[in-house]
Amino acid sequence: MRTLIENLNFAFTVDKNDTVLRNASMVVENDRIADIGTASEVAARHNGKSFDKVIDGTMLGICPGFVDSHVHLSETLSRAVFPDNLNTRAWVFHWAKPFYAYITEEDEYWGALLGITEMLRGGTTCFLDMGSQYDPGIVIRAMDKTGIRGITGRHAADNRPAELPRGWTEEMADHHFFPDAQSALKVLEENVLRYNNTLDGRARCWVNIEGKEPCSLELHVGAVALAEKLGVGTTYHLATSIEEAKVCESKYGCWPITRVDNAGGIRKNLVIAHGAAVSDEEVKLLAERGASVAFCPCSSFKLGKGATSIGKYPEMVRAGVKVGLGTDGVSAAGNMNLMRQMLVVAGMFKDARLKPDVFTARDALRAATIEGARALMWDDEIGSLEIGKKADFILFDLDHVEWTPFYDPLQALVFSASTASITQTWVDGKAVYADGKVQGVDEAGIRRKARELAAAAVVRAGLHEHGVETTTTLYDEGN
Ligand SMILES: [Zn+2]
Repeated sequence: MRTLIENLNFAFTVDKNDTVLRNASMVVENDRIADIGTASEVAARHNGKSFDKVIDGTMLGICPGFVDSHVHLSETLSRAVFPDNLNTRAWVFHWAKPFYAYITEEDEYWGALLGITEMLRGGTTCFLDMGSQYDPGIVIRAMDKTGIRGITGRHAADNRPAELPRGWTEEMADHHFFPDAQSALKVLEENVLRYNNTLDGRARCWVNIEGKEPCSLELHVGAVALAEKLGVGTTYHLATSIEEAKVCESKYGCWPITRVDNAGGIRKNLVIAHGAAVSDEEVKLLAERGASVAFCPCSSFKLGKGATSIGKYPEMVRAGVKVGLGTDGVSAAGNMNLMRQMLVVAGMFKDARLKPDVFTARDALRAATIEGARALMWDDEIGSLEIGKKADFILFDLDHVEWTPFYDPLQALVFSASTASITQTWVDGKAVYADGKVQGVDEAGIRRKARELAAAAVVRAGLHEHGVETTTTLYDEGN
């Protein structure tokens, strides 16, 4: 199958020079980009060759598919349930954990389908998912149906709190926590061997763990080492809030990244989710180790993690740390929309530091595409529009009020456009979102099922009742 998209108004290649082509054409051959350049260059190179399909790009713009470097697909049914006045630790221990513990495999499957439809409509073509509470195969089935690319795993933890808080049961704690690091790692290894590189290479499976207090130090270090042995990556939450850093300091005398690094757990195959509470020395350390960070701007806004007051994301980028953008789960951030993350990140540091040249639109686009791909160790195939890479891309309809008028496509993309003007999303050479719908699934049916399942899960988890804690002392002492 050969498709020519000709005379595109613009093409963001996001190559190493951030080349933006005007009046561009691109050739897609099966799952790959066979050519890209100005319309005249491509026409000259393909003179006389035939195409199965030709798309007129005169009123279209093209961008690499977005890479979401931190998402929780198993959390998708929890949209707008938890209040917005919780600190990160109370949010995790008293709201997210009960919700996770009470969702079923059926909930996870329909939640993953729902989340993926939101992603594809928003131009996200690849994700790093923290993983299933049950089996990574659940998310992979949803990926199979929808055609998206991604990495998933088994969400693992091994460190039960000394006392179970209200709303937790022994049964739920047994389901949620492995008895020790070794038994968790055994299951994670089996999952990688079974699910990595499935769906013609579109699905990868990593050694993912939850990270921070619910995981032992042994599990953090063991996950990184196991991933290295298996030739894959790992991701875990770390340094997600100032409260976590302070508890870590009082218990161990240092902040979380230093503590895990002292044990050998910060390496180049690791994506740290959030990394909000990071010292200047730890920024250097992350760069030296080659580790990546998934920054989730909307999650930081909603939970007050302090990206603008204590965050070191611009410094990380300057130091050479790979910083991708993530949406986090819908209960943390409210959405799975990377265009919204780009808008927020392209303004928050300028405003906080009174410096309009810190984390610009260009940096935001790179973080949402190639830097995310580098973090996910997939930049040999995705993250930019270059010859030989996978045909994962977004087409914007420029005959849209958001794009009328515009001069500089980058300014318009980040500050004017939204997902409303996305007309097609392609993954692996196929238009998986087109004609106003995600192909191959019944979206209205998915939404109907998700509403039913979500309402029941909230009641099972007891989150509909008043009196659920909004502060916490769990994990402050002991363990
Ligand atoms: Zn997360």
